[in-house]
Amino acid sequence: EAGLKGRAVCVAGLGVSGPPVARALLRREARVTVVDGRDDGPAREAADGLRAEGARVDLGSSALPEDTSLVVTSPGWRPDSPLLLAAAGAGVEVIGDVELAWRLRPEGQTWLAVTGTNGKTTTVRMLEAMLRAGGREATAVGNVGTPIIEAVLPGDDGAYADVLAVELSSFQLHWSTSLRPHAAVVLNVAPDHLDWHGGFEPYAAAKGRIYPPGTIRVVNRADDWSVRLATEHGDPDAPLVGFGLAAPRPGELGVVESLLLDRAFVDDPRGNAAELADLADVVPAVPHNVANALAAAALARSVGVPPEAVRAGLGAFAPEPHRITHVATARGVHYVDDSKATNPHAAAASVASYDSIVWVAGGLLKGAEVSPLVGAAVPRLRGVVLLGADRAELRDALGEHAPGVPVVDIAETGDTAMTEAVAAAAGLARAGDTVLLAPAAASMDMFTDYNERGDRFAAAVRALGR
Ligand code: ADP
Repeated sequence: EAGLKGRAVCVAGLGVSGPPVARALLRREARVTVVDGRDDGPAREAADGLRAEGARVDLGSSALPEDTSLVVTSPGWRPDSPLLLAAAGAGVEVIGDVELAWRLRPEGQTWLAVTGTNGKTTTVRMLEAMLRAGGREATAVGNVGTPIIEAVLPGDDGAYADVLAVELSSFQLHWSTSLRPHAAVVLNVAPDHLDWHGGFEPYAAAKGRIYPPGTIRVVNRADDWSVRLATEHGDPDAPLVGFGLAAPRPGELGVVESLLLDRAFVDDPRGNAAELADLADVVPAVPHNVANALAAAALARSVGVPPEAVRAGLGAFAPEPHRITHVATARGVHYVDDSKATNPHAAAASVASYDSIVWVAGGLLKGAEVSPLVGAAVPRLRGVVLLGADRAELRDALGEHAPGVPVVDIAETGDTAMTEAVAAAAGLARAGDTVLLAPAAASMDMFTDYNERGDRFAAAVRALGR
């Protein structure tokens, strides 16, 4: 029972993970206090619900409740927020929702874990589809879908998933201590959330926690940090399985001509390859997404999913919205929404997928550097439309790398900004070009989230012809 009965537990944050975490703790008969700095309408409504279920709730507060012996923090809270500092000062254990879920998981449930700067949601979704095609009771948890804490509790029929495809953010890994997935992958590591972690090294080190003792280490051969974290932080005695877009060596997954091949999980003394799928089974079949498919396949194969199920799973997989989503083609110009490209590394992958682009970019850069991204994008750029709070940094980088490329600067930040941006992009584009929303930045300066940003882009595109 993870020693929760009667224990005074503080749940920090009433956001997305807070309420289900509080409920799980109440079911284990912990004494629960939920704390949140907000005290607005939605917070009060959530608070009323939790109070009715037996929790105490302190709104408008950042104080550590008196007798707390364990804090379960929302992944969004910064380690230097007053409540978490107070807990650290008082020697009170702080864990995240993932660590709590791990402690409460049913015996026999297998976890397959995915982290990385980009591609996590896509990869766990592909993995879930492969596992299901292989006949497993699998659930993907993370940013999209079921909150992780609900996936470890029995459902109404008493049953639970036998395999979880777990998406882990660097924040959640930071607050995890005893997690031991069966197999895990760091897809890639590029600067993101540096303001939260206080620099690149701590950010990368948080991701490295995904390879604890005993966990099969799946690594991206093309990403130095993925390899480094697995070899420096991982268990040297645990299997190391590489993947990449090149021909696989023994012990790896890779690509030969148009085939995805597995030379790691094959019972063949000569190390022959198992054929997993064709490139055409990967949607969209852009290079970074093939890498995601290989990572998912490696994790699925690590629990015995057969090759046919890898292919069937890729066939059943439907990409999430705002991730390289084709919106429309108008006057020969393709409009693509990759609003989820919220950091330079994601935008770079997206820009590299098209030849002639009018690039719509900008927003909150979260301390990330844009010069390398802009440098790599230059040969493909027909023009650029910039919007959002940190657009000056993009403008400067463009001025340095590509003084000849036309740049339209949208100073407007209100409701009409995206409409202006799309109109400007349409003006720069020629038939055959792709107008690509790949902001390289977070959206919260102008939009609720990347969904709203992408929806507005799509709406503006559809309104173009009218
Ligand atoms: P995450 O859950 O890590 O944010 P998503 O699957 O939601 O990842 O994809 C986020 C963004 O990153 C998308 O805009 C996509 O174009 C880009 N992306 C996806 N996979 C990769 C990858 N392997 N490398 C680089 N960029 C990627």
